[in-house]
Amino acid sequence: MPGFRDECAIFGIWGDPEASRMTYLGLYAQQHRGQESSGIVSLKEDGGTHLVHKGLGLVGDVYTEEHLSGLVGSAAIGHNRYSTTGANLIANAQPLTANLRSGPVAIAHNGNIINGSQLREALITRGSIFQGSNDTEVVLHLLSRNSSADVIRCLKEAANELVGAYSFVIMTHDRLIAMRDPLGFRPLVLGSRKLEDGSSATVLASETCALDLIGADLVREIEPGEIFWVDKDGQHSERLAVKGEKAATAHCVFEHVYFSRPDSVVFGKSVYEARKSMGRELARESAVDADMVIPVPDSGLPAALGYSGESGLPFELGIIRNHYIGRTFIQPSQSIRSFGVKIKLNPQSKVLAGKRVVVIDDSLVRGTTSQKVIQLIRHAGAKEVHFRLASPPTVGSCFYGVDTPHRSQLIAASKSIEEIGKFIGADTLAYLSPDGMLRAVDASKTRGFCAACFTGKYPTELFGADRE
Ligand code: SF4
Repeated sequence: MPGFRDECAIFGIWGDPEASRMTYLGLYAQQHRGQESSGIVSLKEDGGTHLVHKGLGLVGDVYTEEHLSGLVGSAAIGHNRYSTTGANLIANAQPLTANLRSGPVAIAHNGNIINGSQLREALITRGSIFQGSNDTEVVLHLLSRNSSADVIRCLKEAANELVGAYSFVIMTHDRLIAMRDPLGFRPLVLGSRKLEDGSSATVLASETCALDLIGADLVREIEPGEIFWVDKDGQHSERLAVKGEKAATAHCVFEHVYFSRPDSVVFGKSVYEARKSMGRELARESAVDADMVIPVPDSGLPAALGYSGESGLPFELGIIRNHYIGRTFIQPSQSIRSFGVKIKLNPQSKVLAGKRVVVIDDSLVRGTTSQKVIQLIRHAGAKEVHFRLASPPTVGSCFYGVDTPHRSQLIAASKSIEEIGKFIGADTLAYLSPDGMLRAVDASKTRGFCAACFTGKYPTELFGADRE
């Protein structure tokens, strides 16, 4: 989906002789969460040296066999980055590393610290020197300014200063730590991997699909507002005593709508099931007389299955997606209408000709891609095109770790649904309601979701971020 871009993936493992290779696989499984840079830090078993390899690009390109062989040790953390704050520079590639009073520390972050700029300014005024431009570096400086040698205490005190979204995986010379903000915006799970000698490695990951790939079992989520760590004495957990901590959570509903892999379990619910449920809710809310339901692949697939099941309309693959597209391709010198979309999505006229088609996608940001998709479907002979979105209109930007266009570029922020329908060229257009979306993710069984980009109701102070 052009517009809302994935945030970051984090991974950590403790007590596994193949720690860096498991981290590589964990990052590979979570490539969809960040494609600009990747990094792994391992802990050498010599009392605490951190070994680091980072690079710009995809996981498969950043590491060679030699790199992984060099990242020795039975503990490691890793990160895939999509820049939410800070430019795409190697200085911003994570995990970030530093040497503190307590020894070496490496940190990988998913989220966005909303008061990061204010904290950064205050730290610079007090003499801190920053290497990159991302908000995560602020945390290292908060740790370095603390006079305590107890890193858990330092992290708990740093958490008191931070507002916004953070799921952290942190490694020191003697422990692996996870820390999640009290509102629990971004996912973070704890897993366990059985080793051949009968022992178990502790695993941390943004998404459960990373556990699946390395043969680890899901134990539980790291709770919102929890600091968890594992060391030679075993696993430990404490609550962060964050000022003004609320009982409610603000899990990012967009994880279910779009970001997470459908084979992951996020915030306790299968993403695939949540998306199918969104399709079912959509069919109940916006039924239309038609001959078939087709998804915009792959994003609309589970919701289209749900819509088809609920409405009784047959499900067809009316558009075939080319899976072998690199990040760039050379355009023909003569411009071909809709070429950019057509190289990825090819409508089948044998399926679509003369038919009334319900087209399902997960969300609509600027509307330009949907417009091209509808043109292609009509060109393939469809008689009617009824466009259905398995989420509500996106009316606001995200300040919690998702790269979003400015509000002015979100079509739903300035146009009515009727105007958007005309713009994209649909016979009818309907969105899932916010209530329908929250029902689909079983929000009533949780302590709450953030849906601010759909409702404009932000769960924290914005520290001026909305005016940027
Ligand atoms: S604003 Fe939207 S994308 Fe950002 S955390 Fe909230 S629901 Fe997720």
